[in-house]
Amino acid sequence: MEEWQYQIENQVDTIEELEKYINITPEEREAIETTTAKWGTTPYFASLIDRDDPRDPIRLQVVPSKYEKENRYGIENYLVYKENRAGEEKRPDTIARQYNDRIAFTVVNICGVYCRHCFRKEMVVDKSLELRFDVDEGLEWIKEHNELREVLITGGDPLLLPDDRIEYIIRRLREIPHIETIRFGSRLPVVLPQRITEGLKKVLGVYHKVPIWLNTQCNHAKEITELTAKAVWGLLSSGVNVGNQAVLLKGINDDKKSFQELHQKLLNIRIRPYYLFYLEPAPGIDHFRTPIEKGAELIRDTIRGHTSGLAQPMYVVATNIGKIPLMPDYYIKERGEKEYILENHYGELTTLPVIQDGKEA
Ligand SMILES: *Cc1c(COP(=O)(O)O)cnc(C)c1O
Ligand code: SF4
Repeated sequence: MEEWQYQIENQVDTIEELEKYINITPEEREAIETTTAKWGTTPYFASLIDRDDPRDPIRLQVVPSKYEKENRYGIENYLVYKENRAGEEKRPDTIARQYNDRIAFTVVNICGVYCRHCFRKEMVVDKSLELRFDVDEGLEWIKEHNELREVLITGGDPLLLPDDRIEYIIRRLREIPHIETIRFGSRLPVVLPQRITEGLKKVLGVYHKVPIWLNTQCNHAKEITELTAKAVWGLLSSGVNVGNQAVLLKGINDDKKSFQELHQKLLNIRIRPYYLFYLEPAPGIDHFRTPIEKGAELIRDTIRGHTSGLAQPMYVVATNIGKIPLMPDYYIKERGEKEYILENHYGELTTLPVIQDGKEA
């Protein structure tokens, strides 16, 4: 058995197991004992948690909380609504669609860790939504839709599939002439970096005219270790491009220091920040919810102009009609007759001419 398989076989998902890593508070114990939702983490990710800090940023992401039973802003049956599963177009369960040229292809509903803030929690954590994961049916549907250019393989965590299944999906997709890009969404480079084995690199790697991109999810600098750095290097050196999709989480990364450090450290291990997501309105995750403006403020106050532009993610909210940018719009202050007044991150002003018919006004 490979190390990563051992980690999954031995997922930390009982009080007894969790006690090996942290001193469980009475509140946490009650939440664990009374939850009906799936929870658990890899032993590796659990080992990064501070034993005695109930506010540890990794702990808050994986240990159930009593607040999961509350719901104010979450939408019931959120995933059916958000992924347009009850719409006009009849699609296999594995296919979620919001765009003409790309789809999300959900191939599995198990994960390395069960994030308490998961936006797909009805499928992955609560298990109230059951999908049929018929990969061949999905592949046939993709083949018939030649307007598609990109397939985003997601879950659950698709890299938990065995190497030969992943190889099969990639090979079948590359046989479809209209598919130009394959993208994986996987948290494993962060929560189970041991998964990036020589075997997997062989499956994902080598030069090919249909490139593979991988977006992972890392929400706090504390999640970044030497093992993750090595896993990312393994992916990159096999020709897989690596990005990050962070989620803005109250009490975890919504303070200036954590936010800036996260994005700087991602770059240091060669991960390009791609999206910062505003927390979606899935039910039972309000305790992680910030005001919408928060993400734009953090980008304005800690990233743009303050650190490398390479570290800058696009702040978006994922909705039933696609992702909508929520970037700070502090830069155009005014449009006069002849010039725009722009503002930088220090509040300093500058101007640009208004262009009319290709000539200056
Ligand atoms: C997020 C998502 C995509 C990918 O969107 P990008 O902006 O290209 O990252 C595609 N389809 C669905 C259904 C999605 O939720
Ligand atoms: S890894 Fe992704 S799908 Fe799995 S629980 Fe976390 S957010 Fe949800």
